[in-house]
Amino acid sequence: MEYPGNLFVIAAPSGAGKSSLVNALLAQDTRLQLSISHTTRAPRGQEQHGREYYFISPPAFDAMVAADAFVEWANVHNHRYGTSRQSIADRILAGTDIVLEIDYQGAMQIKKLFPAAATLFILPPSWEELQARLIKRGEDSEDVIALRLKNAATEMAQAPHFDFVIINDQFERALADLRLVVQAQRLRYPAQRRARPETFEALRLP
Ligand code: GDP
Ligand code: ADP
Ligand code: 5GP
Repeated sequence: MEYPGNLFVIAAPSGAGKSSLVNALLAQDTRLQLSISHTTRAPRGQEQHGREYYFISPPAFDAMVAADAFVEWANVHNHRYGTSRQSIADRILAGTDIVLEIDYQGAMQIKKLFPAAATLFILPPSWEELQARLIKRGEDSEDVIALRLKNAATEMAQAPHFDFVIINDQFERALADLRLVVQAQRLRYPAQRRARPETFEALRLP
């Protein structure tokens, strides 16, 4: 499928720092926009409907699946999460670069549909640090944290299937790495061809 915007798909085990890194990236790069997913999980303390997620009931999620409203969806930590067609279609056709913060199952579905998408996996520096961050974040109960740590092993085992790996040890270093990947993707031939048509035409390049 041909489309003018770049697609970035970012996955990580819970607590690796995915949302913190993506939010910092979005604050620095106004050409990037976040795809807002639908989920059946309940909002955490500060989360708002339509900002972090569209929080919907299981029957409402079922109805969207039946209506083929999702480009991808998956079961993650006992809840369902999905990327709606609407959250990416219009903007990517308009040439906006879009970031998807989704789990590895969804990431692999997107890569099949959009082979030009860049897939990134964020790793924590260690198990101890992953656990410490989940506890420090203070948003999940003990049993939710235990489930997320248990699932982290399966999730991290998928890292070899991703195009890029970012280790979130020092936050600023990891953010710089993330920006490099975004920059490199924008330098691929098709992306440059779209961004600078006058140069390519003057040089008589296809
Ligand atoms: P976090 O892991 O602490 O960011 O917790 P969340 O509850 O926000 O996300 C839970 C999992 O669902 C993560 O692996 C997300 O990447 C994943 N996720 C979020 N949105 C989507 C989506 O639209 N599709 C898929 N497949 N996964 C998603
Ligand atoms: P995710 O979206 O992957 O679940 P978050 O972005 O919510 O992860 O980060 C989990 C916790 O770890 C947050 O409290 C965040 O402030 C913290 N954190 C993120 N990156 C780092 C880092 N490089 N060093 C220390 N703490 C971090
Ligand atoms: P959390 O509940 O902590 O916000 O997210 C838990 C996991 O669900 C994270 O790994 C997150 O990336 C994933 N997730 C969030 N939205 C989606 C989505 O739309 N699709 C898929 N497949 N996973 C998602």
